[in-house]
Amino acid sequence: MPVDPVCGIEMDQELAVSHEHNGKTYFFCCEGCKRIFVKKPGKYSK
Ligand SMILES: [Zn+2]
Repeated sequence: MPVDPVCGIEMDQELAVSHEHNGKTYFFCCEGCKRIFVKKPGKYSK
């Protein structure tokens, strides 16, 4: 199951909000977490 890199929650991929960054797809529990990631991707991606 994908893990939201912002809040650390595991979620069902079908319910997750996806976002691509540097060729990798990240999944988020909600638009809010995605927005936080988009603001500071360096903090949450590696
Ligand atoms: Zn989240």
